Amino acid sequence: MSGRHFLQIPGPTNIPNRVLKAMDRPVINHRGKNFGELTRKIWPKLKQVFKTEKGTPIVFPSSGTGAWEASLVNTLSTGDSVLAFVIGNFSQEYANTAENLGFKVDRVELPWGGGIPAERVFDELSKDEGHRYKAVLTIQNETSTGVMTDLKATRDAMDRAGHPALLLVDSVSGLGSLDLRMDEWGLDVVVTCSQKGLLLPPGLGLLCVSPKALQAYEKSTMPRHYFNWGPMLENNPSGFFPYTPASQLFFGLDEALDMLLEEGLENVFARHTRLAVGVRRAVKAWGLKLLAEKPEEASDVLAAVVVPEGVDSNELIAHTENQLDLALGNGLGPLNGRVFRIGHLGFINELEVLATLAGVELGLHAMGAKVPLGSGVAACQEWFLKS
Ligand code: PLP
Repeated sequence: MSGRHFLQIPGPTNIPNRVLKAMDRPVINHRGKNFGELTRKIWPKLKQVFKTEKGTPIVFPSSGTGAWEASLVNTLSTGDSVLAFVIGNFSQEYANTAENLGFKVDRVELPWGGGIPAERVFDELSKDEGHRYKAVLTIQNETSTGVMTDLKATRDAMDRAGHPALLLVDSVSGLGSLDLRMDEWGLDVVVTCSQKGLLLPPGLGLLCVSPKALQAYEKSTMPRHYFNWGPMLENNPSGFFPYTPASQLFFGLDEALDMLLEEGLENVFARHTRLAVGVRRAVKAWGLKLLAEKPEEASDVLAAVVVPEGVDSNELIAHTENQLDLALGNGLGPLNGRVFRIGHLGFINELEVLATLAGVELGLHAMGAKVPLGSGVAACQEWFLKS
């Protein structure tokens, strides 16, 4: 097809040309002086994006799933119990990761469409008088349902309950798109990856680790090798790694961090909110519903939209991909067939959002849905005009 591919899934996201160009270069020696210099430049910028002075970033050549594993095997010990809040496919998979590693996982199963209520965090932790839970597993943005959780409220609830568990946060689809304040919100480990708000291809699993999590690391007895923080912490300050890093991606990461910081993090977050409101107005104009039950929890990085009666979201997604070269996210797990997801995160602007909405309208029309052509586009345009 001519023209450009519309990659509007909620990650991997579109990569800016600046980042592509930064990576389009010969591979260099990852144990040489130039690579060390590049990495040392990256650490302070990463800390700015995590909004931390006290935290330590650690980067693995992995996807987000590897970073989940690293958050668990470095802070916990064999037989430890964790409390996991499940609000969708990815929070469920985080809990599954902990279970598969042999930890005792107590799950709080909540509706897929809501966030993690702070009161529930307070209640569950208040009940744990013996402080059996060593970690609480949470998620800032549940990518399968398009729902955000207020991490500050989660931290406050843990403090009110006087519980010392570590607060482990999946911000795989949050960091670089949604505000996240590692130090101010008392987050102990934040897990993310390269292919979403960090504007890179898949390939990096990133964490930021608080001093409290580092203390837990010192006591942790879990067997680990590839994801061991220790050799990273020893080698990283000089700019190097215990094994071969995804070195080409580091050129891209350096550039992507510059782009985020040049735009200004607060402007990046405001841009995401503005585009998200436009998409939400379009969904409303179509007469469709988001999976997110509460407007204040609706994600600023994606919209998970429930298809009208009689429409299979997989068919809609196949149609937009095959006929329009527009990739939309599918419904995961029990949401398969019922939901499609529009990603509006990363390197994206108003016109790209409008074109995406126009493509969704064409797709819905082709599926026989009674959605007037142009209705969502117009509602979004009106919002853009006045905002
Ligand atoms: N957590 C969330 C919130 C995600 O959206 C994803 C992937 O989309 C993951 C974890 C897993 O990351 P990966 O697919 O990079 O392993």
